[in-house]
Amino acid sequence: MTQRLVFRKEVKVGRQYDPRQQFALSTIESEVRYDPLTGNSGRLCHFVFNTPPPSDLQAIIATSAAQCPFCPDKVLSATPRFPVEMIPEGRIQLGEAVLFPNLFPYDDISAITALSSEHFYPMDDMPVSMIADGLCIARDFFRRLAALPTTGSPLGYGIVTWNYMPPAGASQVHPHMQVIYTTTPGNGLRRELAAEIAYRERYGRCYWDDLLTTEQGEGTRWIGSSGNIPWFTPFVPTGLLGDCMAVFPGRATLAAVSDAEITDFARGLRRVLRYFAGRGLWSFNMSLFPEQADTGVAHHWLTARLVPRFFLNSQLHVSDVAYMPLLLDERLSMVYPEDTAAGLRAAGVGGDV
Ligand SMILES: [Zn+2]
Repeated sequence: MTQRLVFRKEVKVGRQYDPRQQFALSTIESEVRYDPLTGNSGRLCHFVFNTPPPSDLQAIIATSAAQCPFCPDKVLSATPRFPVEMIPEGRIQLGEAVLFPNLFPYDDISAITALSSEHFYPMDDMPVSMIADGLCIARDFFRRLAALPTTGSPLGYGIVTWNYMPPAGASQVHPHMQVIYTTTPGNGLRRELAAEIAYRERYGRCYWDDLLTTEQGEGTRWIGSSGNIPWFTPFVPTGLLGDCMAVFPGRATLAAVSDAEITDFARGLRRVLRYFAGRGLWSFNMSLFPEQADTGVAHHWLTARLVPRFFLNSQLHVSDVAYMPLLLDERLSMVYPEDTAAGLRAAGVGGDV
């Protein structure tokens, strides 16, 4: 296993006469790490950071509620309907969740799911049923699309994402997920899938199967499992305050996932969100990483990545994404994934209670 998966890192050392220590010579370490699948690098450093007091959430909630198109009084009049040959009933509903076309599509099939009747749920109290219904409705949508008569066009990648609150780029406060079914899944997923296929061809193994075994055995980045869904922190973090991820073993797409597995995942995600909320955070991005419909379980298992987002300074609205990830395609984190995993374990995130 160790020959197949390499966790490579370089330690960098900054030297300086430090004004905070009467200009004594100090050394400060940082790290560059390389993803064992793609080889993509990312940095870890020790910025001094105290979570700022949150913005005035009550004001944001009240102001946004007045115009919200996803609240029950508007969702059926302010949102579009699908063409009848695609979804005869126009929109799909499950519990409180309503799935409809994105008024501003960025693909052939670009949808939104308004997750709840409530306009706002805090990050430390996301209902399991709301998360599960949001994923089940997207899964059922993908299954229906894959079953539609085609004219030789390739099947799509069914991608579900969740931007929660403005620091994560959400333009609506009301909880909602983006649901796209696309033949062009984006650079990150395309490169990752290519690397997984190369790994399969080289070793005859599924990368994610090997990674789970390695991470669970090594233990420092392992969080635990919610039912059948394992959670851990990636060796190379994505967010400035770290991240975590889950794997759906033996499933390549959301369409292949069972109700029970979705509920297992939702239970884990609720706990992860509670943990990050407990650190003063109130925003996040989440995305599923699927293979193309009906393909790929030999080399790809469905994964989910969760990245907390925040304003470095809430008064100045200082973004947590700057030149390094945006222009140099280099991830940067102030928190080591081993520390994030230890915190999540201590908070009982991986427990099967
Ligand atoms: Zn609303």
